[in-house]
Amino acid sequence: MKKLTYLLLILAFAGGSALAQTRSERLAEYVYYFASDSLKGRGAGTASAAKAREYIIQRYKECGLKPLSGNDFHIYFQKGGTQYCNVVGIIEGTDLKDEYIVLGAHYDHLGVKRGKIYPGADDNASGSAALIEIARELAARKGQLHRSVIIAAFDAEELGLYGSTNLAEYLDAAVGLDKVKLMMSVDMVGRYGTNGALTLEGVATIRDGKRIAKEAAAKHTLKLKTKDFETSVFTATDTEGFAKRQVPTLAVSTGLHPQYHKPTDKADLIDYEGLDKVTGYLTDFASQAASDPEFAASGKVARKHLGKNRVFEAGVTGSLGNAAISFPKADLSTKGRMDYTVGLTSRLNFDGFGFQVDALWESASSRFPSLDPVFGPAQDYTQRSLTVPAYLLLLSDSSELGAFVGFGGYYSYVYSHSFSKADPGWTVNPHQGGLAANFGIRAAGLVLEWSFRWQMGDLFIGAQEARIQPATYLKLSWLF
Ligand SMILES: [Zn+2]
Repeated sequence: MKKLTYLLLILAFAGGSALAQTRSERLAEYVYYFASDSLKGRGAGTASAAKAREYIIQRYKECGLKPLSGNDFHIYFQKGGTQYCNVVGIIEGTDLKDEYIVLGAHYDHLGVKRGKIYPGADDNASGSAALIEIARELAARKGQLHRSVIIAAFDAEELGLYGSTNLAEYLDAAVGLDKVKLMMSVDMVGRYGTNGALTLEGVATIRDGKRIAKEAAAKHTLKLKTKDFETSVFTATDTEGFAKRQVPTLAVSTGLHPQYHKPTDKADLIDYEGLDKVTGYLTDFASQAASDPEFAASGKVARKHLGKNRVFEAGVTGSLGNAAISFPKADLSTKGRMDYTVGLTSRLNFDGFGFQVDALWESASSRFPSLDPVFGPAQDYTQRSLTVPAYLLLLSDSSELGAFVGFGGYYSYVYSHSFSKADPGWTVNPHQGGLAANFGIRAAGLVLEWSFRWQMGDLFIGAQEARIQPATYLKLSWLF
């Protein structure tokens, strides 16, 4: 009797995570373990990371997962002379078992720096915990899942996405990445309550992805934000190695917070109820991806993953500038005042060169000096026009970060003008135009540009010869 009680106690303690607890309690247990001082921040390549791996493997076994390769969950790989290791299991599908859904979460974090442990409770003990529980539920649904589901705990994300990149290469060689129908990276999902929503980036890479994601969220009463693509050029997650090889990907997260990559990213700041909700939702989403025969790639890839800009791009633009009017014969010029434009911009990108055409609404003002009797009193001249500049661009490279310089011309249709005090009665030429040049830099969709225009032909018909020049503009554009 005594022995039996003892045994039961051990069972309740050791196997308890699977038996007695709720999912939310299990999630908390994993996060507290991964983020504990004894795991020393799970620095990639350290013994602490190895400890985290063995823990994950125990959970995988408990869930009934099979190793992806042979009978070992470890998939070791070398990078820069150091050995790292992904932990990868599989739940085999039924009639579509040769097609795959990859669910991944990196288990490594920053380790110990300057004597301080970086526990990485949100980044990414939260995702690692969610991954285990998603795996548990999906393994329980085995037999209902048409496609096979690969469960991957990635190493060395923080060093440069080594683990996920390695698995992408591994799968490409083993089965071909065209067989992978979705890759989902669960990274930082512990702040649902405080940040207010779960974000899925990349829904446009899946055919009908937004609708599928939203419908599943409605069932879970989960607040969902969807983004068509991952857009930031400054951040990356484990989706990258797959997305660059044209696999549809979703980056799943509850967002950044002040403790991101700080020693204060601790287990007691995690919203476990929220983590549980997110886990339930992702389980159903993954289940649908694995079971719905219609689930497929849209064929669209994020610009950052394409590695180059799309051939055709369009967006919005606005600029502030300065345009003075010169009177070459009188050797005079006015003072340019505020000139501004708003409008649309478009680009065609090729290798090393491109074209830019804008359509702008423009208001240009200039201050006339008092020069009686020629000009009358000191006053402002303002004209409003629709202006279309076009440039041939030379591009430093075709990727998301680059510089450009362009030459071309512009045409303005002036539809109204005014003098602030006394109209001298000059006829404004409604068709104006001339030469244009620009140069600038871009980072993803954001373009910072300086542009210049030199008017040819006359500003006024039958009056003093006059031209707007030089006109300079500082311009900001956003290409979608
Ligand atoms: Zn992370």
